Amino acid sequence: MARYTGADCRMCRREGEKLFLKGDRCFTEKCSVERRKYPAGQHGQRRGKLSDYGIQLREKQKVKNIYGVLEKQFRNYFEEASKRKGATGETLLQLLERRLDNAVFRMGFAANRTQARQFVNHGFFKVNGRRVGIPSFCVRTGDVVEVSEPKKNHIYIEDNLAKAEHRGYPSWVEVDPAGRKGKVLHLPVREEIPLDVQEQLVVELYSK
Ligand code: SF4
Repeated sequence: MARYTGADCRMCRREGEKLFLKGDRCFTEKCSVERRKYPAGQHGQRRGKLSDYGIQLREKQKVKNIYGVLEKQFRNYFEEASKRKGATGETLLQLLERRLDNAVFRMGFAANRTQARQFVNHGFFKVNGRRVGIPSFCVRTGDVVEVSEPKKNHIYIEDNLAKAEHRGYPSWVEVDPAGRKGKVLHLPVREEIPLDVQEQLVVELYSK
C-alpha cells in the first residue's frame, strides 16, 4: 500500500498552517509552523502570490494530506462523491471521514491518523466482531469498532484514550473507553467535521 513517507511537518509548512498531523506535538511550541511559517527549502520564503488555480490546488493538497491519502485514491473519492446525491464537497469529506483509520482516530484510539493507520494495518481492530486490517475500510451507521483482545491494554491505546476523554469526541461517534470500543451513531455531516478547509475549492479544481 503506497503512502507518503516524508516529514509531516513539511506539509504543514507548505500550506503555511497547522494541519495537525502529529497529535500532541502540534499543540506545543515544538510545532514547526509555530517556528517557521513558510515552505521548507531554499526558495521557501520567496514564493509569490497564488493564482486561482494555485489556491484550489493548495486546498486540495491540504485535504489530501490531512487524511493521508495519495492522489489517485483521493481522486477516486472525488469521483465517488460526485456520483452521489448532495453537495459533492461535503460528500467527499464524509467519505474521507468514514475511513476506518479516521474513525479510529476520531474515537481516540490513536494520537493521529498515521498511527491509526498503523494500528489498523497491524490488526488492532475489529468491526462488528470481525478483524479488519484495511485503513480505507468505509464504516457505516451502527458499526462497532473495537480493539482486538490482545491489544486491549496496549500502552498507546490506554494513553490515547485517556487524552481523548479529556478532549471529547465528535457527535457522530459514541465511545466506551473502558470497553475499548466505539460506535458510529450516524454518518458525519459537515458541521461535525472539524476541519478548516474549503472543500468547494477542491470541487472547482476537479471540475475544470
Ligand atoms: Fe503540522 Fe503538527 Fe508538525 Fe505543527 S507539529 S507542523 S501542526 S504536523
